[in-house]
Amino acid sequence: MEDTLYIVVPCYNEQEVLPETARRLSEKLAELKNQGKIGAASRIMFVNDGSKDQTWSMIGELCAQDAVFAGVNLSRNRGHQNALLAGISTAVSHADMIVSMDADLQDDIHAVDAMIDAYHEGNDVVYGVRSSRQRDTFFKRSTAQAFYRLLKLLGAEIVYNHADYRLLSRRAAEALLSFDEVNLFLRGIVPMVGFRSTTVSYERGERFAGKSKYPLGKMLTFALEGITSLSIKPIRMITIGGLFVCLVSLVMLVKAFVDYSLGNVVPGWTSVIISIWVLGGLQLFAIGIIGEYIGKTYMETKARPKFIIESVLLSEEKDGES
Ligand code: UDP
Ligand code: MG
Repeated sequence: MEDTLYIVVPCYNEQEVLPETARRLSEKLAELKNQGKIGAASRIMFVNDGSKDQTWSMIGELCAQDAVFAGVNLSRNRGHQNALLAGISTAVSHADMIVSMDADLQDDIHAVDAMIDAYHEGNDVVYGVRSSRQRDTFFKRSTAQAFYRLLKLLGAEIVYNHADYRLLSRRAAEALLSFDEVNLFLRGIVPMVGFRSTTVSYERGERFAGKSKYPLGKMLTFALEGITSLSIKPIRMITIGGLFVCLVSLVMLVKAFVDYSLGNVVPGWTSVIISIWVLGGLQLFAIGIIGEYIGKTYMETKARPKFIIESVLLSEEKDGES
């Protein structure tokens, strides 16, 4: 029997694109079934991430119409990463492979074919990688590039130009779910899972309809989350910085001593006041960064659930059609 595929699609206020996404994905699934690449029990699973519009009722209608659709409803908005994880954790017991993609059809759904081929070749993780960023605004492109560079510099293993369009085999998904941390940055965690992996490149288009659910504020939070959850190098930098400041202060001490023995005590006010400012600033900055990590530790110790599923719609019909 062919392997079962689940396509997990997180949706937050996606009523404008949902009908088109559902139509295209079910066509894709039918095509893949006909080609004998996936089994009849394959599904398209929409995860409603606490949408405020008609998204969940539309998912409900889709599920009622066609057993190929499945739905997961989160009790409130928990963000893209958690919605994805909720979908994966629900799908993992039914699926042999799980593909995650955005609801807005920006990711070329035809790349799924190549991902499934790579899976059949024995890969457990297949990363969808954007072939270019030409369509992005200059701002988004340069900030994204700076972000990837910074992460690399900080020692985090992350696949360049890969977002959350990927295929996971069942065992890779199970391994991913065994990461218990609350501050989850999937792009950084998936490479930690290991197993054989490869990449498939695709052209990323415009959002089919609706507005981006990632405004600048959310994007910055996401970047900060990624950095602080993947790397503790900032602490190392503080340590090195502190060591450097100590060395400089030694020189200053000698200088102050020499000045004192020469009798020029009152001049030097400038250097004193500069030291106070520089050190004050450095200390404050250092305390801020350490605070970031303490805050993280605090959140982790609480071990809050990453999501709470309110209800699951999942037809067990074998042929995927009704
Ligand atoms: N999304 C989500 N919860 C959120 C924000 C976004 O599930 O709180 C979903 C959204 O529905 C979409 C995906 O995450 O399927 C990516 O969002 P979007 O396309 O708006 O981001 P962009 O492509 O602009 O970075
Ligand atoms: Mg998008």
